[in-house]
Amino acid sequence: MAASSNSSLSGSSLSSDPEDYQPPIWKSYLYQLQQESPRPKRITCPQEMESRPKYYGREFHGRVSREYADELLAGAEGAYLIRESQRQPGTHTLALRFGHQTLNYRLFYDGKHFVGEKRFESVHDLVTDALITLYIETKAAEYIARMTTNPIYEHLGYTSLLKDKTVHRLSRGRTEPRRVTFQRDDRRAAEIASPLVRRTVLKDAPEKQCSYEKIHNFKVHTFRGPHWCEYCANFMWGLIAQGVRCSDCGLNVHKQCSKLVPSDCQPDLRRIKKVFSCDLTTLVKAHNATRPMVVDMCIQEIELRGMKSEGLYRVSGFSEHIEDVRLAFDRDGDKADISASAYADINIIAGALKLYLRDLPIPVITFELYTKFIQAARIPNADTRLEAIHEGLLQLPPAHYETLRYLMAHLKRFCVLQGDHDAETWDRLGPTLMQPPEMNALTSLNDMRLQKLVVQLMIEHEDVLF
Ligand SMILES: [Zn+2]
Ligand SMILES: [Zn+2]
Repeated sequence: MAASSNSSLSGSSLSSDPEDYQPPIWKSYLYQLQQESPRPKRITCPQEMESRPKYYGREFHGRVSREYADELLAGAEGAYLIRESQRQPGTHTLALRFGHQTLNYRLFYDGKHFVGEKRFESVHDLVTDALITLYIETKAAEYIARMTTNPIYEHLGYTSLLKDKTVHRLSRGRTEPRRVTFQRDDRRAAEIASPLVRRTVLKDAPEKQCSYEKIHNFKVHTFRGPHWCEYCANFMWGLIAQGVRCSDCGLNVHKQCSKLVPSDCQPDLRRIKKVFSCDLTTLVKAHNATRPMVVDMCIQEIELRGMKSEGLYRVSGFSEHIEDVRLAFDRDGDKADISASAYADINIIAGALKLYLRDLPIPVITFELYTKFIQAARIPNADTRLEAIHEGLLQLPPAHYETLRYLMAHLKRFCVLQGDHDAETWDRLGPTLMQPPEMNALTSLNDMRLQKLVVQLMIEHEDVLF
């Protein structure tokens, strides 16, 4: 099989010892095939055709028969022309000579030329890409089918590239939240007191390194110049859209390989441009933290200044100042200055925290689990209801769970210091923590009461739920 021609290219054996680092060995077999694939040969029409659409050139031959086109192309691999369909005038066919036969494709134009998924600036580019793809996929079908079976990824790819960042293969690191059984409701009052004493001082997160899993954010990508897949080490062939690239970490792989890459994306800070409106898991992984720094820093600042301030979480700060805090976080990350000298009004900090939560592309209580929480809130029996909420919490992504846990512990302290539970607090926090997957005025109005209840229950029972 053709794959054997590859052996000369892999100079040394792969090593699994991470200390024994060797540069990746890129396999050029597919690159060589691309180099030797047939080049496009445009067969031009001797006369000017009046029916020629302006986006086609002299390769347009008008309404000629399939057989005539076949004759014009015969003998030259890569030869192509465009003809108008005789049966369906107005539609166009690309006739292309490959593998000693004429292939006919329905050709479309909508500002770009295409016969399938890929869109091209010119017919010439389309034909170049088609010839590369046809040639490689015909010649190396078996090789391509097998190229993902022995990936270099584990040995030399992504993990080695990350070696400097001291990030090793990531495993699901969240310690399972403890299972709890719920006490009868009348014992609640006594239960609430103890954890509050336990948590009078803000806990310092012992875990500094973030071990959450994160899936890569692959998008179809056009590579300029030759590129090799960082999963299978093979060349990414074609003229455009040769593979996919992760927008968060920059990993480049074949589309088929992207399905096999583990969920170990380590976002690159240079690619994560913002703090606000950035996906929660992406942000914490990029900063190698347990929770978003906005949540930690705002809560620490609020607790530092004392939480007795009248109207905290109810009165909103000036929106321009809140916007200022957002910009500071987007610009400076965890170096943002949110101290009293920068923002004397604590409501600005509380406002920035609420804005951060509200602006998350996926809310803290995810769209996926939203209904589960709303349904839980509908349960009349208090114990069963709490069990159902607990079930929901266990299914949250780790970064979301950690954020919520930290936030609820803070709000619990806040409620105790403020005296009685402040109904307006959860009135305002409900919609920042959970939103229905589809915004519909009626649903949100109906759900509003239940959202508040969920937040209220999570604060009141924070000690047993988390
Ligand atoms: Zn990634
Ligand atoms: Zn690959």
